[in-house]
Amino acid sequence: MTDTKTHTGGCHCGAVRFEVELDLAAPMTECNCSICGKSGTRLAFVPDHKFTLKSGEEALRDYQFNKMHIHHLFCTTCGVRSFARGAAPDGTMMYAVNVRCLDDVDLGAMNVQHFDGKSL
Ligand SMILES: [Zn+2]
Repeated sequence: MTDTKTHTGGCHCGAVRFEVELDLAAPMTECNCSICGKSGTRLAFVPDHKFTLKSGEEALRDYQFNKMHIHHLFCTTCGVRSFARGAAPDGTMMYAVNVRCLDDVDLGAMNVQHFDGKSL
């Protein structure tokens, strides 16, 4: 059973706003890799048709490192990383949404899976 709903979210200052279709009961990923570990994100991965950027494209700055596959976007005003995007190996554009940036969600009730990205 899935309970997929449309959720809204964004950065701290409000410049970046998005909608995403997500099942909040699904496992969310916390990763210990060099960037997730430092920025403290908790991620849900969705294909691009489930993600809509409502505002703030011009407020986003891109950051890339290592293999340069993933665009680690952040708001140039408040610095919050509300989502990242990049192409999966099969070419599908994927979004990694930081569920900490969703409106009105219970972070403590989420099912969190720890991913050992540091060891990859
Ligand atoms: Zn912002």
